[in-house]
Amino acid sequence: MNIFRVRMPRVNAWLAESGGRWLLVDSGKPKTTGALLGGIAAAGCAPEDISLLIISHAHYDHVGGAGRLKREAGVPIAIHKSEADLLRTGGFKISDGLNGLGRVRAFLGRHVAPRRMFAFEPAEPDIIIDDERRVDDFGFAATIIHSPGHSMGSISLLTDDGDLFPGDLAITQPLPGVWAHMPIYGSSIQDIRRSWRALLERGAKHVYPSHGSDFPAKELEALLDSRT
Ligand SMILES: [Zn+2]
Ligand SMILES: [Zn+2]
Repeated sequence: MNIFRVRMPRVNAWLAESGGRWLLVDSGKPKTTGALLGGIAAAGCAPEDISLLIISHAHYDHVGGAGRLKREAGVPIAIHKSEADLLRTGGFKISDGLNGLGRVRAFLGRHVAPRRMFAFEPAEPDIIIDDERRVDDFGFAATIIHSPGHSMGSISLLTDDGDLFPGDLAITQPLPGVWAHMPIYGSSIQDIRRSWRALLERGAKHVYPSHGSDFPAKELEALLDSRT
């Protein structure tokens, strides 16, 4: 399997290729769809060849290109059942802050930032995830796993080789200690830690987050052990 990072301003999507079939995790912000399509092309992929788009969760910086990919290239979309209506309606949702910085930014997002910043083209999902689902029928030896904590309906993709695509459940940011990989927004730090632990126990070896650079999964293990 080949993995390609699609870099957009402050957010990633990840493309995986296996046997000529392609899978895309997340689709950037509404304003970065041009960069998304450019990155897909640069990887040597035609949007029509994407067998599945997995939306890790329905925040505006992950669903931005979903509507266009489905409308123009017929790409099917997978999302958790509790986030499906946000995708269908173009719904606006910001998680609570998990630290001081997160609380300030969540407040600004809800009360100061213009709503149009979060507006995205809605899309009808095709695959609704409950607990988990294999994706062998889309050409990949991997499982989509419900992994709550950043949002209640966050999902991760874990390949049988240990490549983990967690969306915002684990990210990389220039903050100290646990915040190097802990999102500053979320529904529950306890749920995030539980989901990290569960994914490590299921064999996660390397992490490809939707914000920042990829990193070895043992860094999450060290943060869980340090209990900082
Ligand atoms: Zn998010
Ligand atoms: Zn995000």
